[in-house]
Amino acid sequence: MPELPEVEVVRRGLAAGITGRRVARVEVLHPRPVRRHLLGATDFAAQLTGRTFAEPRRRGKYLWLPFTDGDALLAHLGMSGQFRLDHSSSPDAPNTRIRIALVDGDPELRFVDQRMFGGLSLALDGAELPAEIAHIGRDPFDPAFDLGAAVARLRHKRTGIKRALLDQQLVSGIGNIYADEALWRARLHYARSTDTLPRPAAVDVLTQAAAVMREALGQGGTSFDSLYVNVNGSSGYFDRRLAVYGREGEPCPRCGTAIRREPFMNRSSYRCPRCQRVPRHARF
Ligand SMILES: [Zn+2]
Repeated sequence: MPELPEVEVVRRGLAAGITGRRVARVEVLHPRPVRRHLLGATDFAAQLTGRTFAEPRRRGKYLWLPFTDGDALLAHLGMSGQFRLDHSSSPDAPNTRIRIALVDGDPELRFVDQRMFGGLSLALDGAELPAEIAHIGRDPFDPAFDLGAAVARLRHKRTGIKRALLDQQLVSGIGNIYADEALWRARLHYARSTDTLPRPAAVDVLTQAAAVMREALGQGGTSFDSLYVNVNGSSGYFDRRLAVYGREGEPCPRCGTAIRREPFMNRSSYRCPRCQRVPRHARF
């Protein structure tokens, strides 16, 4: 699943590509990605037609495309959802599900989704923040993000640090990749208990998470999944800079010890067994 930097790459591409443009026609090629629209695909298409896009917005990993009338199109990227900006004459990419033609011509907006866990839905009055994602915490790139408050929330939880980092209500935008990288930078084991974590360590790990995501954004994101591309169909380069994620058996860039992969929440955690030792106060 894309994390904050990858979604921000998409948001920027869409901001440059659709802001201020009006919808001429919507074609729903498969009903599944609009299943959240209870009145069906035909109504979905009719509802969008004639509206003008404002600048796309994001909170954490969640992206929405506001309209100038105050409503918004909420994107659920799921495992494989992508937006593409393509010329109307160019053939559909494989798994194109929704085509949105714009009044002023090319490029048009297409939603592509191989596995179709994602989709698009209309969020009434959602331009500022769709109600469906109002419970999501602010992410570290948000100008209103309050680090002190986030640290307090984190230390108030009785859980493991990685679970806390992945909790989108606590701090949003961090997924498996950037959690592992932030923990490695902060020299913390993923199961370190949050309620006994000293305040400076909590500040450090959240600061490291923001830093690694900012670096990833500078590289166009991480192409951890061949399904994941930006609106132009190309992927990012940050995977070359990852210290631990996906690097089982490779030397830790800091101490040379072989990186270890361990099962965690139905996925994996990568850590350096020397830099990130198993803590006395562990919560798995
Ligand atoms: Zn190490």
